[in-house]
Amino acid sequence: MLKRFLVAAIALNASAHAQGPALPFELKQVGPGVYAAIDGPEHKAGSNTGFIVGDDSVLVVDALFTPEAAKALVSEIHRITPKPIRYVVNTHYHADHTGGDGVLRDAGAIIIAHKNVRGWVRVNNINLFGDRITPELKARIDALPLPDVVTDKDLTVWLGSRKVTVRTVLGHTGGDLVVAVPDAKVLFTGDMLWRKVAPNLIDGSVKEWLATDAEFAGMSDRTFVPGHGDVANASDVKDFRAYLADLRRLVVEGRKSKLSGDALAQSVAPKMKALHPDWTISDRSIAAEVRYMNDEIAGAKKRPIPVAD
Ligand SMILES: [Zn+2]
Repeated sequence: MLKRFLVAAIALNASAHAQGPALPFELKQVGPGVYAAIDGPEHKAGSNTGFIVGDDSVLVVDALFTPEAAKALVSEIHRITPKPIRYVVNTHYHADHTGGDGVLRDAGAIIIAHKNVRGWVRVNNINLFGDRITPELKARIDALPLPDVVTDKDLTVWLGSRKVTVRTVLGHTGGDLVVAVPDAKVLFTGDMLWRKVAPNLIDGSVKEWLATDAEFAGMSDRTFVPGHGDVANASDVKDFRAYLADLRRLVVEGRKSKLSGDALAQSVAPKMKALHPDWTISDRSIAAEVRYMNDEIAGAKKRPIPVAD
């Protein structure tokens, strides 16, 4: 009887799936009651997300870029569990991770973030897009909800008897959190880890980033859900650290040869592509990485400044 019910339930699920619009992400179970939603090849979700189903409620890690993608996430969670969505943790303020916060709040979530995110999530996201911003996107960012619970220390969130650890880390923006599920050995890293995708260094400190990821690289039994790219393991963390270290070394070498500006980027880009042939590295992204790396080495890197409450 149970078996027949399960077969029917699976068939129902499959047909609901087949009829619905394609999801902007691929849902992957990475542990008991732990799911990663990995951005699809068309990047409609904007970043990765995930969620943890506890005894009594659900905690979501990051809210994706668009309200549409966040709505798809909420309906996937409701499809998997009847438990309420109680929290969303923003790993950092960037709009591709916070853009769907309003949808998650409407679904019942309390927004948890690093304390710097309240001051940055609107103003700094608008700055981030610069002249690429549209009036529609500006209005959407202006209306982003501010986090409800903020911290600059580690936090433990209990989903009934299930422990979730929210940790503060250094490297990507100056307001970064990662989320660990100890019983499932899963770590949601936000943009502290990119798998085979060139990272955005706009607000980062590569020095701090390499130090934080050195610790992650030692977690050999862990499954990592990166901010961008597919589900990862410790060797992917080592690969990402090698990418950052190569970038820094090549920029240092270029500076010694008196290269700067476009010439520096044009010297580094082909070497990075040759060293990391299986990575997605666009000319635009590598030029920006070289510029930010050069600024950091020169001691001229601009990073977001914490705003007083
Ligand atoms: Zn980011």
